[in-house]
Amino acid sequence: MSVAHLVIGILEGDDIGHEIVPAAVEVIRAGAERTGLRIDWRPMPVGRAALDSLGSTLPDGTLEALAAMDGFILGPIGHQAYPRVPGAINPHPILRKHFGLFANIRPTRTFPGLGALFEGVDLVIVRENNEGFQPDRNVVAGSGEFRPTEEVTISVRVITRAGSARVARAAFELAQARRRKLTVVHKNTVFKLGCGMFVEECHRVARDFPEVVVDEVIVDTFAMRLVRDPQSFDVVVTTNMFGDILSDEAAGLVGGLGMAPGLCIGEGAIAMAQATHGSAPDIAGQGIANPYAMIESARMLVAWLGRDRGLPEAVAAASLIQDAIVRALADPACRTRDILGTGDTGAMTEGVIAALDAH
Ligand code: ATP
Repeated sequence: MSVAHLVIGILEGDDIGHEIVPAAVEVIRAGAERTGLRIDWRPMPVGRAALDSLGSTLPDGTLEALAAMDGFILGPIGHQAYPRVPGAINPHPILRKHFGLFANIRPTRTFPGLGALFEGVDLVIVRENNEGFQPDRNVVAGSGEFRPTEEVTISVRVITRAGSARVARAAFELAQARRRKLTVVHKNTVFKLGCGMFVEECHRVARDFPEVVVDEVIVDTFAMRLVRDPQSFDVVVTTNMFGDILSDEAAGLVGGLGMAPGLCIGEGAIAMAQATHGSAPDIAGQGIANPYAMIESARMLVAWLGRDRGLPEAVAAASLIQDAIVRALADPACRTRDILGTGDTGAMTEGVIAALDAH
């Protein structure tokens, strides 16, 4: 009998990445064992450790090796602390761009007892990942930001029809599989051409999804409504910078950055699990980082690969882990301090694994 099989890269990243990425791998490994899913894990050098040992934060050969895998887990990157030397680059925009990972799927949901500002939140922000205002990825060479004189800085925002349409399609597909409700967030009252094009493409794609109810909200109004009535949203699609800000805001509603997972997907066959938060150098090495966002990002990767590759063992492992997370988070001893627990990274990881068998 052939055994379902995935190849997944492990890129720990920096700071708390060395704690939460191994936690995520342990949980996925345990879930996969229980459903007969075989995963070949391929650790790859990245970040500060790779700079010190190999002279680059994204060493030669990493992109080629990843291209042959089904997906990978990227831990948080502490690029702001990198020394200013050749080879010290921020790897994640390069990875997103190289693999065409144009949609960043960022769910926000509440679990009871975590000190969240709201109960009953269950929404997903789909953030365009590779264009918009982000100067490190919206051009093929140089930077989308430049200073023609000491007194003037220009930041360029790139919106394309193709980029807007493909992220819209990813969002509609998700909405179709969820509660069939999609909110397009933009500011076409001011960015008449840029946001205007984004909205036009969303409506064009909407014709292929007649069952999905679409509404539009201006970004500043959305920011306000998100903190007053987050339960009214389901799937939200928006441009890069708006999505960056709004997904952190959404995380704040449900317990903070430790509760903010993400999955980057594209048109290719590869996907990348990447939590929304940074490398949290202030708490690194203490064993107290909340591993939820990283575990859930990795779980989303396995679920997505399971659906994409038609592997029921992977879908089953993802669903088993999802239930285990809910059960573990109900126990304060299995929660880290940022979400009103008494445990640490290890206790939370072990709690989720123990809950895999507790039906
Ligand atoms: P970046 O710009 O790289 O995304 P950031 O400026 O958003 O980084 P983070 O590194 O995400 O900053 O940290 C912001 C705050 O959130 C810090 O106080 C950090 O300790 C906390 N934090 C981030 N992730 C976690 C986590 N997984 N568990 C607990 N606290 C976290």
